[in-house]
Amino acid sequence: MSNCAIVGINWGDEGKGRMVDLLTENYDVVVRYQGGGNAGHTVINKFGKFALHLLPSGIFRAGVVNILGNGVALDPENLWIEMRDVMDKGISLTPDNLKISDRASLLLPWHRDLDALEEARLEDKKYGSTKQGIAPFYSDKYQKKTVLAGELFYPEKLRAHLADLLEWKNLTLTKVYGAEPYTMEKLDAWISDFCEKIKPYVCDTGSFLKEAQKSGKKILFEAQLGALRDLDYGICPYTTSSNTTATYAPIGSGLPSAKVDDIVGVVKAYSTCVGEGPFVCEMFGDEAEELRKAGFEYGAKTGRPRRVGPIDIVATHYGVEVQAATEVALTKLDVLSYMDKIPVCTKYILDGKETDRFPFPLALEIASPKIEYFEGWKCDISGVRKWEDLPHEAQEYVTFIEKQIDCPITYVSVGPERKSIIIRK
Ligand code: GDP
Repeated sequence: MSNCAIVGINWGDEGKGRMVDLLTENYDVVVRYQGGGNAGHTVINKFGKFALHLLPSGIFRAGVVNILGNGVALDPENLWIEMRDVMDKGISLTPDNLKISDRASLLLPWHRDLDALEEARLEDKKYGSTKQGIAPFYSDKYQKKTVLAGELFYPEKLRAHLADLLEWKNLTLTKVYGAEPYTMEKLDAWISDFCEKIKPYVCDTGSFLKEAQKSGKKILFEAQLGALRDLDYGICPYTTSSNTTATYAPIGSGLPSAKVDDIVGVVKAYSTCVGEGPFVCEMFGDEAEELRKAGFEYGAKTGRPRRVGPIDIVATHYGVEVQAATEVALTKLDVLSYMDKIPVCTKYILDGKETDRFPFPLALEIASPKIEYFEGWKCDISGVRKWEDLPHEAQEYVTFIEKQIDCPITYVSVGPERKSIIIRK
């Protein structure tokens, strides 16, 4: 297999960063192809613990070239802060191991302001944005009202372009939201403080990827969030503002001719969801608190407690289909070790009838879960490395899920560290 995409099957936070960190060993290039710094991929390895927001998770492997593709929301300020953090911990970032697409659009300083202003206006109808400016950024990108990273090499044109955008955006800031206008001085400071810092990494990554493909290099595409947050296929409007699906990888990476051979869908052994929106299998009260604590389910970016529930077969099967996953990595199985009986949401009940079809987003609000229980294994499995050594109950749990979602589970993760994995192939 020369190309592989690692994608989320559910609401995000499935442990994709941990899988990319593991699998980069077999790849030459890792490309982030969509989304921005609004999610966090947690990676634990010999260098320490990292919450990566925009940097591809391959940056810890020597010899791997990491690319931020044209599909990402490139926030120079947050990217530079993240790059400095990583470099402070001894990781070398150079234009040889980190390349930023000159066709990536820049998330401008006012995008974050607009995100916060709109969430405040919505009050109790808010979408649960992380206020990183992602929705205003993508809206402006599709209106062609932002700038490309490559424009940094044309300073005069860039300033003129920004001055035009400033005039237009100040109308919204002041007249719609009654906020302070931006000034060119502020933008000049943003250019010199952040854009100039990332500029040495900006290049024609499309040509680089084409050459890499020609010379048989292996490319790994890394997504952010999960299928249920996909702009077109997710739980609208509680989605993100880009396509989180594997099929978008060739477009957002800068290699439209790529065929993705292998799609690893990452699924958590239970469900978590950050922010607003329908979450059919949600647990409440002490039961939820216990699971949240066992799995340490607090947002990597925001620290917000995640909503939790049992694994949702209906949503997961849908996610596997939407992602066209060829295999699944099931993560955090070790977290369930404390349970006597393990709940599984096997179907939804909608209008008094059972269904295994993921419904139209509005119908999610009136769906309820059908819960079935599996025997727990009640022992520590975090040291298990071979399928045969997993307790029989844990094997039954995994094989049941595999059958229901109709996709082979080839990895079972039993801990956050690189080596805490059972490989079933
Ligand atoms: P991502 O955005 O999909 O990369 O997921 P996050 O990083 O937000 O969430 C995954 C969390 O679970 C991180 O804190 C990981 O270190 C942790 N994690 C991943 N796999 C496992 C596992 O198998 N067991 C345990 N206990 N933790 C895991």
